[in-house]
Amino acid sequence: MKISNINGYVISFPQNPPWGYSKGWVTSAPTLLIELSTDSGIVGWGEAYGPPKPIYEVIQSFFSESIFGMDPFETEKLWGKLRHEIRDHSQGGVAMAAISAIDIACWDIKGKALNTSVCSMLGGAVRTELTCYASAIRYTKDPDQSDSLVDPVVPARVMLDQGFSAVKLAIGMLSIGDDLARIKRVREFLPSDIGLMIDANHAYTSRAAIELANKLEAIDIFWLEDPLAQDDLPGYHSLRQATSIPLAGGETLSGRPAFRDILLENVFDILIPETGLVGGLTEAKKVFDMSDTFGVECTPHGFASVIGTAAAIQLAASHAANPFSSGSRSLPVEWTPPPLDRFGNLALNPLRCQDGKVAVPLDQPGLGVEIDRDALRGLIKNG
Ligand SMILES: [Mg+2]
Repeated sequence: MKISNINGYVISFPQNPPWGYSKGWVTSAPTLLIELSTDSGIVGWGEAYGPPKPIYEVIQSFFSESIFGMDPFETEKLWGKLRHEIRDHSQGGVAMAAISAIDIACWDIKGKALNTSVCSMLGGAVRTELTCYASAIRYTKDPDQSDSLVDPVVPARVMLDQGFSAVKLAIGMLSIGDDLARIKRVREFLPSDIGLMIDANHAYTSRAAIELANKLEAIDIFWLEDPLAQDDLPGYHSLRQATSIPLAGGETLSGRPAFRDILLENVFDILIPETGLVGGLTEAKKVFDMSDTFGVECTPHGFASVIGTAAAIQLAASHAANPFSSGSRSLPVEWTPPPLDRFGNLALNPLRCQDGKVAVPLDQPGLGVEIDRDALRGLIKNG
């Protein structure tokens, strides 16, 4: 089998209502879907995480000729070739997002050709359904209340009613005092057996993060995610020594070496690789396995549309954490519940999270998701 064509689709999902996080307000969520065609007629889909137009430009300028004629079954060879071609110009970011999307599409093709799930090709299903956490309670405005911020307990109650075992709260847009009040309100509302993660999306200096962490010590926090800039390793070391709250991060990192370095620094308790950025399924599996060898737990980042989400679910379902005992816990996987829209009507058979759990589509080939081309055309107009 040979790759015969590649198409990219820049699409966007309007976000109603708009929401805020530590980097500002978001009114639409764009993404890049990749369609790989083969001479056998089988088509595979991939998705990249990051700015879609620059990523597609990298694919067209650097990779489209290289992958033409390659065998999509040879994911190791293909990955190594693309990584080598662009290594001198970029170590991560849009370049690795481009490789990620191509790699995911190849895995989809392999599964469709063999009539088996990606999960089965990654080693088989360790879990047939995954527990999800709701991500995330963000800042929203109440149009009936002079655009003041909606009480975070309102969406927390909806997530609780939807059956999620844990919820994540975005922080970092307000002062530490005002965000602390939101955290306390949600924590006091949630039952004690429902986890609460907080995600700052790289909002703080180490001094500010330590101030926040000290005030959170008395509160049950499942993890504190991305409090500092990705490259502030000295700050992470200071924070790590100052708090007992588990620290999570890694959604913006690409490739094994970046994860090796962060693991050697021992600043995170939990890693959150993004399949659409780390290097696709080929690299994400290696990062999951490497994380195990450091005794650091791993769960996929989840802010993709239907294709990237399916890839993350297939990977997470195949991962046997070390140690693999009946008492071992599995971290929940990230899931964006309504009303925030990351899926639209893009898939004919979208994954669904019911009662806080998503069933892995093991009876479907490849990623287990079929794109509705009419819906895709509608979303391209937004892109
Ligand atoms: Mg995050």
